[in-house]
Parts: sequence; structure tokens; C-alpha cells
Amino acid sequence: MQIADRISRLGVEGAFAVLQQARALEAQGKHIVHLEIGEPDFPTPQHIVDAGIKALQDGWTHYGPTMGLPDLREAIAKRLVTTHGLDVSPGRIGVMPGAKPALFFAMMAVIEKGDEVVYPDPGFPIYASMIRFLEGVPKPIPLVESRGFSFDLDQLKDSITDKTRMLILNSPHNPTGGIIPADDIRAIADMVRGRNITVVSDEIYATIWFSEPPLSIASLDGMAEQTVIVDGFSKSHAMTGWRLGYGIYPEWMVDAVSKLMVNSNSCTASFTQMAGVAAIEGPQADADAMVTEFKRRRDHFCTILNTVKGFTCEVPPGAFYAFPNVRATGYDAKVLAERLLNEAGVACLSGTAFGQHGAGYLRFSLANSLENLTLAGQRIHTLLSL
Ligand code: PLP
Repeated sequence: MQIADRISRLGVEGAFAVLQQARALEAQGKHIVHLEIGEPDFPTPQHIVDAGIKALQDGWTHYGPTMGLPDLREAIAKRLVTTHGLDVSPGRIGVMPGAKPALFFAMMAVIEKGDEVVYPDPGFPIYASMIRFLEGVPKPIPLVESRGFSFDLDQLKDSITDKTRMLILNSPHNPTGGIIPADDIRAIADMVRGRNITVVSDEIYATIWFSEPPLSIASLDGMAEQTVIVDGFSKSHAMTGWRLGYGIYPEWMVDAVSKLMVNSNSCTASFTQMAGVAAIEGPQADADAMVTEFKRRRDHFCTILNTVKGFTCEVPPGAFYAFPNVRATGYDAKVLAERLLNEAGVACLSGTAFGQHGAGYLRFSLANSLENLTLAGQRIHTLLSL
């Protein structure tokens, strides 16, 4: 018996591996502060839970249309007018069990063997995993700390060739919390507009920003026809376990994505989608309060990190991660992350879990209470002053 070769090209997510290690330590009686996993620690807002329960009771328990229920696709389309200035037909929206399949299907629909795919490094590890799986050629572009973890635009321009078929953007960004400045987005659009390059704009953190909102490349002139917007409810409404995301696909990609969806999932859970309608159309006070709390934690924790010997931490403008530069500690980041977990009881990720250019950084998720972040800060201080 043999596993197909293609499976060897798939990667994994470091966060889940560290979570497992941390749980094993907890089973031995050790106390761990969990700052490894990228999921909001808040409950799903009650009115969304109620809508999900009501949907179950009302019989939303059957197959639905492959690309999603009309109510949800219409609600998403309506919101896009406000958020992106885009008037998109609901037929271009594909509702999926999470942002991940929305991303995967866009990549499967476009990438052929040998196609170059340009993407941020450090970046969400699934990008590189899927590129390799599809036998594309990964073209990781380092993010520049002194530019707020945006690209070096000259380097980005030079890396786009006649073989480039896809450019992945993620703003606000995992793992750095960076937001690509609007002028950079405009410059990037100028590099790819009208070329045979599909842009995937991963906007899963779009609502989590603290001063300036991110600009979507899809909002710029002529870009909607070559951009896939990937988004969902996991982060914005603390709905990771509901599995609800979506893609806004260019017209020419819709049939391909629909085929992929019918061959894999058939459809997304109907009652989950009804909860999604409530998430969009209901009150946003809880979702807004999460962002306010992330900002409070960010300010508090980055201040602590900046007092740790050898750490410097850019204050992230979005998402819910802190990504300090730890080179001056003299530690390899992976070794430091392991020591923090095993000796100090702080679970975090090495920047290398997000690509080679993450070397020298750690990622801390802010999805834990202010009290626990303070405790983690004390433990980090203690370990680094030994
Ligand atoms: N894109 C980025 C950048 C992420 O960080 C994540 C989750 O961590 C996802 C996509 C996947 O989101 P979902 O859980 O909705 O599949």
C-alpha cells in the first residue's frame, strides 16, 4: 500500500503542531499560556448562535445550492458595495466551509504545473503548501520590517515574470499584523493590471484594523475581473468552528470553482449559512468590541515585548498578532520558541513556521486575556534574563 506522491508536497500548519505539544505538557501538569493559535478567544456573538439554532429548528438541515444559499450570497453582495465600492452579482460569490477552500479552489482553478506564484514570506503557510501541491513554482517575496512588513516594491516588480500566473496578497497580514499601504496597493495593481495574472486577495482579517482600514486591490479600476477576494466569518465574528467562508470570483472562474465545490463538499452546511446572514445583517457591536479589545491587548503586549532584552516589536496596525524581531537575543527563533514553551510555559510560533524569511521573529497571537498576556510577558522576561 502506498500514499500518492502528491501528498508529500503538502505542508502543515505550525500552530496546530505547537498546540498539540502544549496540550501534552498540560497533561503532565505544566501551566501553559496559549499564544500560538490564530483564533479569537471570544464566543460567537449570541444573536448569531441563536440564528444557527433557529435555522436548525426550522429545518435548514438539507443540501443547499452548491455555491451557497441565495440569502447569504445576496447579503455578501450588498455588503461589498459599502466595503469595496463593488457592485457584484451574487452569482460570482461562492460560499464555502471556511476561507481555506475558497483559497484552495481559486488556486486549483488557475495554477498549472510550472506556473509561478508570487506570495508574501513570512505568510500563511497554506499558500506555499498549495502551490507545491499543484506543482506550481513558489516565488516567496520577503516582507520588509522597516516598511511595516509590506513588500519592497522593486523586488516585487522584478519577481513578476511572463511565467507568473498568480499573486497572493494578505492584508491585514498573518503573521505580522501588517497592512499594505494604499499607495503600495495601487502600485501593485499597476504591475499586474491587464496581464494574465490572477490576484488572490486574502481579506480574512479585513475588519480587524486599528487606525487606517486596508484598501482592497479589487476596488481599483479594472482589478475586479482578475481578482479573487477570499474572506469569511472565522476571525471577524469568532466563528472558526462553524466553517464559513467565501470567495468573490471573477465571472470566468465561477464554473470551475462550482465544479470543484460539487466534487468535494456538495455545499456548505445550510444552518451555518443562515447564521452567516445574521452575522452580516445583525448588530455588529460584539464584533466591534472584539477589535477594541484586540487593540487594547496589542498596545499592552507590544509595550511589554519592547522591554524584553533583545526584542523589538513593531506595533501591528491590524489582525491579532505581535511579531517581534528577536535576532538581538542571539537565539535562533525556533530554539527560542521551544525554550519558551518547555521552560517558560509560553506557547508561540517561530517566524519560520511562516516561511524562510520569518527567521529571527516570533509570532504571538493576541487571542488571550490581558491577564494572561501579562503573565506571558513576565515569563518571557524571566527566561531572557537568565
Ligand atoms: N487566511 C489566513 C491569512 C488565515 O490566517 C486563515 C486562518 O488562520 C485563513 C485564511 C483560513 O481561515 P478559515 O478558518 O476561515 O478557513
